[in-house]
Amino acid sequence: MFDRIHQRLQRQTQQQRQRERLVLNAPPSGLTRIGHKELVNFSSNDYLGFAQHPAVVHALEVGAKRWGVGAGASHLVSGHSQIHEDLEQALAALTQRPRALLFSNGYMANLALISTLMEKDDTVLHDRLNHASLFDGTLLAGCRFLRYQHLDMTSLKQRLARAQGHCLIVTDGVFSMDGDTAPLRDLVQISRTHEAMLMVDDAHGIGVLGPHGAGLLEQEQLSVNEVPILMGTLGKALGTAGAFVAGSETLIEYLIQFARPYIYTTASSPAMAYATLTALELLEKEAWRRTHLKDLIHHFQSTATELGLTIQPSQTPIQPVVIGDNTTTLRVARALREHGFLVGAIRPPTVPEHTARLRITLCADHRPEHIIALLQTLSRLHTS
Ligand code: PMP
Repeated sequence: MFDRIHQRLQRQTQQQRQRERLVLNAPPSGLTRIGHKELVNFSSNDYLGFAQHPAVVHALEVGAKRWGVGAGASHLVSGHSQIHEDLEQALAALTQRPRALLFSNGYMANLALISTLMEKDDTVLHDRLNHASLFDGTLLAGCRFLRYQHLDMTSLKQRLARAQGHCLIVTDGVFSMDGDTAPLRDLVQISRTHEAMLMVDDAHGIGVLGPHGAGLLEQEQLSVNEVPILMGTLGKALGTAGAFVAGSETLIEYLIQFARPYIYTTASSPAMAYATLTALELLEKEAWRRTHLKDLIHHFQSTATELGLTIQPSQTPIQPVVIGDNTTTLRVARALREHGFLVGAIRPPTVPEHTARLRITLCADHRPEHIIALLQTLSRLHTS
């Protein structure tokens, strides 16, 4: 067994696929530190800068005193407190769905949804760039699955023609490594024509998109009748931790009764639920953060174009710069770090072969000068 493990680890290094785990010596928002080196962080999903927001930090303290740090049991034993209930109601109100259900993280929410809804002879239809947790939920369900070409509705229809049993179309709202968005209106139409259920993982849209920060579904004005299953996370734009599913009373009750990744795990921290409620209030009170983020996205796109960098037309805080080979991507990411910029080097199997990339993420704590400095440095490094 250990021979095999050693061989696999060696191959990982030879192919320049080894995953690095950096140790930060300061909070991740905006500016961070590794050792004594100050870095502008362009690799965090804390898009609104809430992880370190004084009101959210204060709420975590107050929440711990009032509700405790840990839940002490699973939701169905004695871990579910009024503060969890309040947060679920606030999330249902934000997303305009009848009911919401909290999960300890997005990975578990996706495992729960797909493995509980689908049975052996059913079929899940995945955009091929969907998040890993959606595929893993499908493996846990043990059902059939088909992958359609990224954003390609013709490809989806072809797969649907071959699908068997009940069908579930699953898509990321905002694709986590590309920053582009799913064609939700087309997906609603196709799901109706083919009597398939539609599920959207809006981990990267919640908090950022839509007039009130309720995500891609709010931006596209899609109701629960059009998109019956919504999953969102709390550890990205909301700056805390956890996730939720929002949908009909029936969907939520079904998950409570049957979803093993919900039933057999300790409830998430009640103090964190209190902090998340404060983050939700800030979505309204500090709506300027979303506007500022939008301005930064435009600024990134126009500056990169002026500098002749090849970028994707992403309208979200996720701005990938595809380099191609693993070695160059790692080299550029490390050189950027030397110059004071923290950027993720994302390589296969997280992204398809030959599409290794820098995953640059923008957040409300950045200033236009940070973006100009990053892009000028990148343009020098990438062409040298
Ligand atoms: N879905 C998507 C699209 C994601 O990007 C992520 C996080 N990388 C998850 C689900 C998992 O969420 P969490 O980090 O809360 O487990």
